[in-house]
Amino acid sequence: PPRQLVRGVVVIDPGHGGNDPGTWPRGISALPEEAINLDIGVQVAHHLTQRGVRVVMTRGSDTYVSLDRRADIADRALANLFVSIHADSAHRKSASGLTVHIHTRATTTSQKAARCILESCRRAGIETRGMLTNNFHVLREHERPAVLIECGFLTNREDAIRLNSSSYRATLATVIAEGIANFLSQ
Ligand code: ZN
Repeated sequence: PPRQLVRGVVVIDPGHGGNDPGTWPRGISALPEEAINLDIGVQVAHHLTQRGVRVVMTRGSDTYVSLDRRADIADRALANLFVSIHADSAHRKSASGLTVHIHTRATTTSQKAARCILESCRRAGIETRGMLTNNFHVLREHERPAVLIECGFLTNREDAIRLNSSSYRATLATVIAEGIANFLSQ
């Protein structure tokens, strides 16, 4: 069936970039975190745009954007949702799966968005670790509903292999966009 158009403004924030490659455990991930974040972010933006959502990207190439600037973009866009995209790392190599973070003092709107994204991942059979609260700068320094997605662990062998695969990143982008569209439609 034809998909219904979805209204809203979403800021997509691919983490890191420029002189900040993000977490990059050599030998496990060929791609730096920033490139994985950017590729997924650009594809999420594309899917949302196709569904009628107005999308603003905090960066569209491998460039440095400060955390304050990213938060400022969320406020200026009057975003219905700010979505920061990252890949995780941990000392424990067995840690795996996708996590959605919201701010410690997040509103129920941000919680709803996190649940929609996690629900979409679970339906697609993607391993999730659930919702966590955190005091991340890009979740705290603006007034808009916000989530930060850690798409998997670059320190975990299986997650790293998946996140280095363009077909997995394409699937994940579709699934994340679906979750965001469901949130906007509620
Ligand atoms: Zn990161």
